[in-house]
Amino acid sequence: MPIGGHSEIGKNCTGVKVDDEIVILDMGLHMEHYINHTDSTDSDDLVDMSPKTLIDVDAAPDVRILGDLKKKVVAICISHAHLDHVGAVPFLSNKFDCPIYSTPFTIELLRTIIKDEKIDLKNELVKQKENSRFKISKNIEIEFIKVTHSTPQTVMIAVHTKYGTILYVNDMKLDDHPMLGKKTNIKRLKELKVKILILNCLYSTTPGKTPSEKVPEEMLKEILLNTDTKRKNIFVTTFSSQIARIKTVRNIAKKIGRKVIFLGRSLAKYSFAAEKAEITKLSNVKIVKFSSKVKKFLSRLDNTEKYLFIVTGNQGEPKSTLSKIVYNNYFHFKPKDIVIFSCTVIPVPGNSENREKLEAALKQKHVSIYKDVHASGHARLEDHRTFLNMTNPEHLIPVHGDKLRAEAMKKMAIEEGLKEKNIHILKNGQRIEIS
Ligand SMILES: [Zn+2]
Repeated sequence: MPIGGHSEIGKNCTGVKVDDEIVILDMGLHMEHYINHTDSTDSDDLVDMSPKTLIDVDAAPDVRILGDLKKKVVAICISHAHLDHVGAVPFLSNKFDCPIYSTPFTIELLRTIIKDEKIDLKNELVKQKENSRFKISKNIEIEFIKVTHSTPQTVMIAVHTKYGTILYVNDMKLDDHPMLGKKTNIKRLKELKVKILILNCLYSTTPGKTPSEKVPEEMLKEILLNTDTKRKNIFVTTFSSQIARIKTVRNIAKKIGRKVIFLGRSLAKYSFAAEKAEITKLSNVKIVKFSSKVKKFLSRLDNTEKYLFIVTGNQGEPKSTLSKIVYNNYFHFKPKDIVIFSCTVIPVPGNSENREKLEAALKQKHVSIYKDVHASGHARLEDHRTFLNMTNPEHLIPVHGDKLRAEAMKKMAIEEGLKEKNIHILKNGQRIEIS
């Protein structure tokens, strides 16, 4: 039951009905629509809004299409902590009388969000480890299988039923050198007998294989260890959910004798969740959560060249902390100070203009800009091919992509010998029955 993220990018949500029970896989936001309608400060942040409004502006999956079937939902399982997979949970999950299952990092992030936004979530939040298997009802077992991605503890979700296994793989890369956490559980993948594979097709129009997280580590070392950083202020911006990258930056900062300071609300959110899930320690990191306090904090800081600032706002979002630092002169940059964009520009309207504007403002201040210091968290076409051959499913459902991307995945799957009639490109609200 495609609810969100089918023939579109964002607000991932798929229902799987087995006899008289339904499992919901992911409950995400459409970040572009969400930000447009909430005027949120940056793409890793959340502000409260009513469920009806969120659905009406197409920012949250339209769970109303389930109608009376919503009583049959026995579990909501979340694959990882990105807001396009988990972000609608605080707003929609109260409509369902069932627990929410995910890995510890994602559950801790949810807890942080609902606490910050003062949302009363009725559902029980259940932590399950990566590579664990558990029963959610008499007839359905769930297995969380480790996969690498750009945020910690991402899993593929296997729904084991008497009719076969449905494997939901929404957001992943095949990274042999993850900088944090385990590698993809290839052994388990090869053992599975997959009836239906629901596979992320976001980058299926991009040829080749996605580089490892080791690549940006090398790039960051090149910049911070092999260039002259003495008496220069250093600001790094990246996705707040990218805990591995943040860890890398912290390690390099240590090597050049600088203390790390976090500036921005979503950085606080994700790093608290990482600490709660025992992924990282924050004891020696100063965090300034609200951008309103950043100006005062920076102006009072002695010798800013002793620090390395990690700051939110990598897309140049006008209200983000980095934009305020630059446009509102929260900080007085010197020529040759360093600003590193450890990210790519997400190709949605507005982003490139925002970033160009921010970079132009930095150039006016004669700051040295390093950009695209990044490796994506998303598999490309050849990774998809590897993945398909490892799991050898009977049926394939491309997800998290528009028609063009889904068709590119379909073409590849046909090349690999999958029957065309067994590849299903679905639209939200449609139903498909596979027996
Ligand atoms: Zn993701």
